[in-house]
Amino acid sequence: MEPVRLGLVGIGKIARDQHLPAIAGNERFVLAATASRHGRVDGVTGYHDIAEMAAACPLDAVSLCTPPDGRYQQALTAIEAGLHVMLEKPPAVTLSHVEALVEAARAANVSLFATWHSREAAGVGPARAWLADKKIEAVRIDWKEDIRRWHPGQEWILGPGGFGVFDPGINALSIATRILPHELFVESATMDLPEGRASPIAASLAMRSGDAEVRAEFDFLQTGPQTWSIEVDTDHGTLHLTQGGSVIQRPGEAERTEPDLEYARLYERFAHLVAERAIDVDLRPLRLVADAFLIADRRVVEPFAF
Ligand code: NAP
Repeated sequence: MEPVRLGLVGIGKIARDQHLPAIAGNERFVLAATASRHGRVDGVTGYHDIAEMAAACPLDAVSLCTPPDGRYQQALTAIEAGLHVMLEKPPAVTLSHVEALVEAARAANVSLFATWHSREAAGVGPARAWLADKKIEAVRIDWKEDIRRWHPGQEWILGPGGFGVFDPGINALSIATRILPHELFVESATMDLPEGRASPIAASLAMRSGDAEVRAEFDFLQTGPQTWSIEVDTDHGTLHLTQGGSVIQRPGEAERTEPDLEYARLYERFAHLVAERAIDVDLRPLRLVADAFLIADRRVVEPFAF
């Protein structure tokens, strides 16, 4: 089988840190071109945007690593050019945009993959399997990181459609919706908005899954130790998922982890979806964030500068 000729779009942090090595490590893909206004990859022809790239370069698929605001139009342009599309998380800034992309992909008979990389973390599959037959009593999510350390200068993240602290926080929600046996609902939310910014720098959610209360704390101003953890109390003890889902500790057992294969697994799955012209879009993490924005009690807090 010929490799999938891939165009990589938005050559920023995640494209360089994760997508380029994952593409290089998967023989089903060849990086044929990039589209980015400023970013370039050595040895690969670079274009300014998707439309220019699709017109000039024979491609089968694109992978979008741009910020979420704007991704709908980029994805639509690619789908209308007959290309398979892989989306970074969050897949778009509104639910209706993602639903419209699903319709467009169906109409064009191309695959569409809305990725949730944290679901591929080493502990997530084992956590889901262990929790499947347990009674869930309570869940605590703490997703607290330093925006200045992990997102230096990314002004878009606090702008409209930037998701703010939900840019990392949606990863926790993608894991929770994967591992918990019952659907999640948002019951109340608070959000801290720095003066003059459109997206929150901190948020708390009170959710429910079956009979269990699910509390989530998201903070972008965490200095010192960084926390990406989910604790699930069950009738058989407490399960701990830490380090973004890569470390699992079941009750009575030692911590376990495996090498990080998140993006390698995403590209494996994308190759499969492309071969099948299939669609893999799970809106639940984005829906929870949208619900939180609908009902949130908002506080304006002091201005933030990177
Ligand atoms: P980034 O470093 O800001 O890179 C995004 C790239 O997209 C930029 O370099 C820019 O390249 C291009 N771009 C196109 N339109 C843009 C716009 N309006 N504003 C800013 N850049 C624009 O962001 P990132 O951290 O790679 O994040 C991109 C996506 O990946 C986000 O959805 C994020 O949630 C996701 N993600 C990030 C991480 C992480 O650790 N950073 C981890 C997992 C997932 P040009 O200027 O060359 O066009």
